[in-house]
Amino acid sequence: MLGHSEMNAATTLALPYPRLVEGRFGSCTVLTDESLHEACGVRIAFTERTGGVSEGAYASLNLGRHVDDDPERVRRNVSRVLDAFGASEDVCIRPRQVHGNTVAVCRSAKEASAVNASTQDGADGVVVACDNVSTLLCFADCAPLIMVAPSGHFAVVHAGWRGVVARIAEGAVRTLREIDRVSADQVNVYIGPHIGVCHFEVGTEVSEVFSCEFGEDCVPDPRHVDLSRALRNSLCGVGVDESRIVDAGICTVCDEGRRFFSYRASGGVCGRHGAFAIKTTPCS
Ligand SMILES: [Zn+2]
Repeated sequence: MLGHSEMNAATTLALPYPRLVEGRFGSCTVLTDESLHEACGVRIAFTERTGGVSEGAYASLNLGRHVDDDPERVRRNVSRVLDAFGASEDVCIRPRQVHGNTVAVCRSAKEASAVNASTQDGADGVVVACDNVSTLLCFADCAPLIMVAPSGHFAVVHAGWRGVVARIAEGAVRTLREIDRVSADQVNVYIGPHIGVCHFEVGTEVSEVFSCEFGEDCVPDPRHVDLSRALRNSLCGVGVDESRIVDAGICTVCDEGRRFFSYRASGGVCGRHGAFAIKTTPCS
């Protein structure tokens, strides 16, 4: 007869290793993981900037509410994303992002609107531990992360350099572990398009912090920081399996606004692409 822990191990479904591929949903082009969706029902998406209704610097799928775009167009863009994935707006958590390390948690669809309201005080990570509740965070150079546990519970995180230093990614993994009693090495981590080490120029006061906190391999020279390397080192330090971390490998500044928005490449006036996730209950 199996002991309790052995039974748990035997019945835990391991996720397929993470892999990002391009997909089309409604009018939206996104990076997603099809095998993840087949295995546990979680749909993840890093949105591209095509397929929306905004114009000029915000063309076209701008999802950011705090930029100087027409709010009605932003609302229509967000609806397009939610419709594409069968998500409804009243149970979509869209925090006000403040470069902090607060991670909000939603455990049931009933509490989604209260959680959403509480995140307007500032939150840069959202953990969803229930079906049919989605979350959408916005980016233009900062690193988007999506983490998925074998149960189908997930986290979406906004990490600029301040968030990385404040260890928000580790906080999200810890929260998932506490909810699921899962070990960190079973969690899949997806890092979306963000400013690459090629373009992330910083002062030495910042690069010194990264070198001390996350290792010298995050700082190829004193003027540049590798956010992706820092996130990997940070996550592996709390037990995440490096082979379960995938990076889209796209620098938003190198991209020059073709597929993604970039704050630096645009001189500061641009829209925001999104990181989105939902687990929908399968139709019976
Ligand atoms: Zn670059």
